[in-house]
This record gives sequence, C-alpha cells and structure tokens, in this order.
Amino acid sequence: MEIMKPDIKWEGKLQPFKNLLQIDSIGLHHMAHPTWTFEDVHRFHTFTNNWIGIGYNWWIAFDGTIYMGRGFNKGAGVGGHNSHILSIGFQGDYENVNKEMPKAQYEAGVWLIRYLRNLVPSIKTVAGHKKWNATACPGKYFPLQKMIKDGMKEEKEEEVMLQKFIEKYTPEVVEKGLDILFSSISDDGLPSEWAEKEFKEAKDLEITDGTNPEMLATRQEVAIMVKRAVSKNV
Ligand SMILES: [Zn+2]
Repeated sequence: MEIMKPDIKWEGKLQPFKNLLQIDSIGLHHMAHPTWTFEDVHRFHTFTNNWIGIGYNWWIAFDGTIYMGRGFNKGAGVGGHNSHILSIGFQGDYENVNKEMPKAQYEAGVWLIRYLRNLVPSIKTVAGHKKWNATACPGKYFPLQKMIKDGMKEEKEEEVMLQKFIEKYTPEVVEKGLDILFSSISDDGLPSEWAEKEFKEAKDLEITDGTNPEMLATRQEVAIMVKRAVSKNV
C-alpha cells in the first residue's frame, strides 16, 4: 500500500519527534462526521480549532486511501498525550451514522498499524482515543477490538512463506513452501493407532510396501495400490 502526501499548507511549524522511541502508542479516531474528507478536516482543525493544520498523523478514507497528515511530527489528536502517541483518523461517524466500516478502509487501517509498528518498535499499545480522553471516539460502531487484534498480530515466517507460495510460484518459493508443508507432517514410519490393524493387513496382502504410512500419496501411487487390491480380489 502507498501513503499519499497531500500538498497542504501548515499555519506554523511542525514539531518533529525528537526521538521516535518516545512513541509508545497508536490512537485511533473517527471524524464524528459522516462525509468529511481529509481536506475538510484539515480546514476545520486550522480555522475552527486554530491548530497549525490537521491534527492526525495519518488519515484513512472510506476507499482505503491513506493520507499523510503530520506524519512523524507531533500530532494534536489526543489531548495531553501527543508526545507519545501517533494518531490515525478514519473518515466517517462511527458513533451515529456509519454502522459498518468498508473493507478497504479496515484493511488500510490494519496495514498502517503494522507498518508503523515495524518502523517504531517502541509502540506497545494500540487503542481508541477514548482510552486517554473522555470521548466516545472512535465510536461504538468502529471495529476497534478486531482492528487492534489484527494490527498487533505477528506474522509467522511460515505464514508469510505460504502466502507468497500462493501468490507467486517462483521455484524457490515453491521449494521452500513444499519443505514447510512436508515438514509439518511427521512420519515416524509407524501408522497411527487407528489404522494399525488394516495397514498391516494391506501390507501382508502386498497392496502397499508399508513405507511412509503418514505421508501423502500421489495419484500414481494410489492407482497402483488400487490395481494391486483389485488383482488380489479383496
Ligand atoms: Zn478522537
């Protein structure tokens, strides 16, 4: 995903975080307005709140477009806590009007949380604005717990590898993906307890040679075993 950098005018100097590691949290917000765009919010924060411009560090539209607001400069989203919180604003009124977040906006939110956590390892908390201030923000219909859970999830190397395996069949990816797949099957050379008796009978009838009882069989192996069984009249 990409982050758009809108060409906006700031009414004062942005204050960069002196040390990114002073950031320990991400705060999530809604706009408490059903249609306001990034530019509308920027205008409101500039001319009504008399701030230097939009208070959020990043902002996400219904269609999943991510806008850079203050970026890694001190925000104004969470009163009294802006020196240690990055704020992400979401288009919509999730308290009264918008009852379901569009998939594109949700996925952009999860992506941005993971992206920021990768850049700033000191981030340990992701929460709604209401954790720090007396407010309903980000609203009762905001998928808060689900977004936090998905945003905080660690991707296991195996999951990433299998994902790539599905998306892109390069020889290296296929090979590594198959390694993971096969190594996840443990075969100690003995059949499972429930299959023990019949597997032994099949071996005695020479339908199978009895090796690798718990591994996957190819179609040719299955065909040969079926043919052997049929020819033995069992
Ligand atoms: Zn808020």
